[in-house]
Amino acid sequence: MYPDGTIEKVLTEQEAANLDVEIAKYKGAIVPGFINTHCHLELSHMLGQIPEKTGLVEFVQSIIKSRQGDAAEIKAAMYHADQKMFDNGIVAVGDISNQVSSKEIKENSKIYYHTFIEAMGFNPERADAIMDYVKEIKQAFVPLPASVVPHAPYSVSQPLFELIREEAENDNTFISIHNQETDNENAFFENKTGGFLNLYQFLGLDISFFEPTKKTSLQSWLPYIKEQKSLLVHNTVSSKADIEFAKQTNSDLYWCLCPQANLYIENALPDVDLLINEGVKITLGTDSLASNHQLNILSEMITLQKHKQVGFEQLLSWATLNGAEFLALDGQFGTIEPGKKPGLNLIQLSSEFAIESDKVHRLV
Ligand SMILES: [Zn+2]
Repeated sequence: MYPDGTIEKVLTEQEAANLDVEIAKYKGAIVPGFINTHCHLELSHMLGQIPEKTGLVEFVQSIIKSRQGDAAEIKAAMYHADQKMFDNGIVAVGDISNQVSSKEIKENSKIYYHTFIEAMGFNPERADAIMDYVKEIKQAFVPLPASVVPHAPYSVSQPLFELIREEAENDNTFISIHNQETDNENAFFENKTGGFLNLYQFLGLDISFFEPTKKTSLQSWLPYIKEQKSLLVHNTVSSKADIEFAKQTNSDLYWCLCPQANLYIENALPDVDLLINEGVKITLGTDSLASNHQLNILSEMITLQKHKQVGFEQLLSWATLNGAEFLALDGQFGTIEPGKKPGLNLIQLSSEFAIESDKVHRLV
């Protein structure tokens, strides 16, 4: 390895012995830096504030009611969360932002951030105005990498989806969206029923213009973004028919799992075996400290190993290479290969490849 962390060569024990190089020995497994493809740094001050297992509809209302706070405290919480992610072996983050407040932290961070500026607006008549607003935030993030993205199927109108897709196409970038986090989302699209009706009422939104599509959420909105490279986040209630529809509609999709946030909010987990069997590309995310006790990808891997019996090697590719590929960072991150600068983490594994601890020892 070069002093700046770039990998020079990967050698077997025998090859290293022949070269007469200095060898440092570690107990455990050395893996590439982790990629967190879904986070909301802006919500870091909300650690421990939102009640668990209330369901998404309650959760969203709690966030709206209590996300305000003292600007200095919010900033301090973001700095702290960023440092914790670094200590937990994370080298790159796809981070959702609704404001520009995280820019300073990202500029000063040792972590690579791609910011997803979230557009929200279900009334089709507001699409242009909302797009203008989020483009201003994107502009404010320059020179940091950022793209405008839809928040969720139930909070973005078709014209707004189309504007976001055009913007992403022009910028040659990728987008991210919260997808099928609860059954209420499908019920809303299929027949305009379920808990989201309460949410719109809480928000004071008149949705009389909305006609149910008679399809699941994913099958309703996915065609609006055409072939744009996208990350679908959560997928807690995505069915086999949804996944097959998605594969046929867009060949450049990544499926992000945030298991600890799913357990926190809905006390449910996606059908991970189904996603594996369908052969889709899976990445991992922590979501925010409003819905998680920590921002630690290794801990998410342990949760999936425990609840879904996913093999270590598979989890590792989700946590490293797939995330790097989605964020278009696989030239630098994701694998330990000559020429890359992936970050190196030492972790503890049992002889059966069970991850024994969520503590990461960062070697680089
Ligand atoms: Zn989220």
